[in-house]
Amino acid sequence: MPTLQPTLFVSHGSPMLAAEPGLWGAALRGWAEGLRDVKAVVMLSAHWEASGPAGITSAEAPATLHDFGGFPDLLYTLQYPAPGAPALAERVRGLLAEAGLPARLDPERPLDHGAWVPLRSAFPEATVPVIQVSLPRPRTPRQVFELGRALRPLREEGVLLMGSGGIVHNLRLLDWAGDSEPEPWARAFETWVAERLERGEYDAVMADCAAAPHFEKAVPTSEHFDPLCFAMGAGEGSALTTVHDAWQLGSLSLRIWAWG
Ligand code: ZN
Repeated sequence: MPTLQPTLFVSHGSPMLAAEPGLWGAALRGWAEGLRDVKAVVMLSAHWEASGPAGITSAEAPATLHDFGGFPDLLYTLQYPAPGAPALAERVRGLLAEAGLPARLDPERPLDHGAWVPLRSAFPEATVPVIQVSLPRPRTPRQVFELGRALRPLREEGVLLMGSGGIVHNLRLLDWAGDSEPEPWARAFETWVAERLERGEYDAVMADCAAAPHFEKAVPTSEHFDPLCFAMGAGEGSALTTVHDAWQLGSLSLRIWAWG
């Protein structure tokens, strides 16, 4: 009987974490080293929004997408050669269909940096198969939560479900000379989210976050926040722990939460 796998939400921060993962990477690695019998990863990243139904990567060997600009050359040479899992992709499509969530397989789609940057720290050997599920567009937080919930049975089959985004993510407000001490508004918003998560108040996170302090600054667009809703749906019922609690560039949250 495979081990019940936990669920992870990872704030993927700046792409520079691929070259300099630091304490964030060490936290991911330490957490992953405690896992047993991970058969595959199903990842929902902020950096893949498909128009219409959700997409599911189904390549045998997905390529590495360098979907960022203006960074040092080194970052564009990094590869994450994890195998795909076409049969699991079909199973994911089936589970989503049963839940009334249409999705389509995409054999061309590579792994984006929201997926491979944290995976490179968690599983540096790149031997665990990975598939990605996209955010649908249009969508509501509740629909993304239901995506995660529909895939929850996979946790009992050794599959690690991960959402990759950011709780506070506003590129226009980054302070490139800033350090690890967050601006008060950024911390206030993340604290609001964390308090509700710790009490299991997922409906409040989804329904009321727009009224939370500094929501407009923290979540200017929803694509980095919505992977948290995926992880809530996948992780619901398991105990929540903070794997990493840090900041960079003045207001970019690096929070990592695990369920189970
Ligand atoms: Zn991102």
